[in-house]
Amino acid sequence: RAKKQGKNQMSFFEYEMQQQFMSRVVIEQELREAIHTNQLELFYQPVITLDTGDVKGFEALIRWNNNGITRSPDDFIPIAEESGLINALGLRIIEDALSTVSQWNQKYGKEFTIAINISSKQLRDEVLVEKLRDGLEKYGLKPELVELEITETALLHDTETVSATINQLHNLGCKLALDDFGTGYSSISHLREFPISIVKIDKSLMPLSEQDAKHIALVRGLTSMVSILNLSIVAEGIEHPHHAELCKELKISRVQGYYYSKPLPKSDIEQRYVITQ
Ligand code: C2E
Ligand code: MG
Ligand code: MG
Ligand code: MG
Repeated sequence: RAKKQGKNQMSFFEYEMQQQFMSRVVIEQELREAIHTNQLELFYQPVITLDTGDVKGFEALIRWNNNGITRSPDDFIPIAEESGLINALGLRIIEDALSTVSQWNQKYGKEFTIAINISSKQLRDEVLVEKLRDGLEKYGLKPELVELEITETALLHDTETVSATINQLHNLGCKLALDDFGTGYSSISHLREFPISIVKIDKSLMPLSEQDAKHIALVRGLTSMVSILNLSIVAEGIEHPHHAELCKELKISRVQGYYYSKPLPKSDIEQRYVITQ
């Protein structure tokens, strides 16, 4: 049947493939444009100290407002990585995040931490370390307030280059956090091999209810594994009081999630948190 449709006819499969390819190309083009025209904006999600309920710091999360449509970083960060746009974008994100948190710390007399997501590609960019060093100096920020979030998959390839970069970042005094823990390899050897001091338990592990024994056991297991290594833990995706209760019971020090706050634009953070404290 497909043959009879002639040369210019595509099968549904081919059509789908082309659509997908097209949208990647279009998104890449639009992303390039967006970086140029500043359509990308950092949002900040408060990270809470569970004991006191105080805001300990923020995670910077990128948003792309594309003609009124907010595109999720899960959709465009991979495209930015494949096209190489991530390097320039990543440096902008670092500059912006360091600048914002240092402004807040000076203005409000705080020592907020700032968590910045670093893509695996950036760990192969020689400029990264330099840019961070310059940024810390320019904004007079204590390096230990800067937490660089990397994922475990970033540690699997180009191990030598990646490991050299990670050591340099560590030597700058920045903290390294392993993001999305519990979704990939979650290997204890990675936690020992690399100078990682923070582990972020992935939001997908948060129990669906208080009866969700499987997820509760998983969080409990991962938490005890991480605390044996004396690393600090941040739990993500706290949406319900029972998540917070579980974290308290497991002595997880820091939490982050919609239950406390969604990621917000800089000005909203200033209104909601910083000024009122
Ligand atoms: P991530 O670093 O693991 O960030 C956590 C994600 O969970 C964020 O999604 C955040 O908005 C979302 N989240 C926070 N609290 C909750 C909650 O209580 N429930 C649920 N369901 N979700 C919650 P977002 O902002 O869409 O970012 C997705 C991923 O995109 C990030 O995962 C990170 O891997 C990547 N990303 C975001 N911003 C950047 C960036 O500036 N640079 C790089 N390289 N990657 C980024
Ligand atoms: Mg993160
Ligand atoms: Mg995460
Ligand atoms: Mg993630």
